[in-house]
Amino acid sequence: MLRVSRQSSGEPEVFYSLQGEGANIGGPSVFLRLATCNLACTWCDTKYTWDWANFDYDQEVVSLESSQIEEKILGFGCSNLVITGGEPLLQQSELVPLVASLKSRGMTFEVETNGTIAPLPELVRDIDQWNVSPKLANSGNPADRREDASALTAFRELPNAYFKFVVNAAGDVEEVCALRDRHNLPNQRIILMPQGHTPEALKLRSGWVSEACVKEGFRFSTRLHILLWGDERGR
Ligand code: SF4
Repeated sequence: MLRVSRQSSGEPEVFYSLQGEGANIGGPSVFLRLATCNLACTWCDTKYTWDWANFDYDQEVVSLESSQIEEKILGFGCSNLVITGGEPLLQQSELVPLVASLKSRGMTFEVETNGTIAPLPELVRDIDQWNVSPKLANSGNPADRREDASALTAFRELPNAYFKFVVNAAGDVEEVCALRDRHNLPNQRIILMPQGHTPEALKLRSGWVSEACVKEGFRFSTRLHILLWGDERGR
């Protein structure tokens, strides 16, 4: 069984859209949003996946068999699946058979993770792109919870892992550079993305964040889904 988040309608959060962030931005994809997280970012835009002080678990989460999820995913007729959360690797053992089965039907996969849990070899074998998003001090998580050296080393060794950082202020870029140096992350696989839940907030930060990318040799990403649809759940 996998614990899946629900859309506002109560249906499991399996939906078809465009990848809104990162190296495959704009790519048509099915999204599977898994519930629960091991961090608690203050600016998290999916708190309904983990914040049980403010959201009701039974209303927000549904447990489904792998076969039920597979049927929903295949129903969209799209060949790329983005597995997101919450933190999907909290359920990685349960994900292995779902991914293997969908792979045999020709699907490709991206996993979005906060980079604190090393992936299982069975998943590494089948995942096409890892969107690793280590959290900075601006997330409000203590350093020993948000930065795990062995997990980051495991992802660094995967050529298909990108490291995406949400930046809010200029000091965040210095923090990214320090983290890059501590873990030897390659510049060409580092992506900076401005923080913002509205198009206006994104625009405000995009200028200086893109300039920082040029200076450091990083990639830049906007948040396409915010520009197109605002903060709407399930888009
Ligand atoms: Fe939200 Fe992701 Fe942070 Fe978890 S790691 S609290 S899902 S932003």
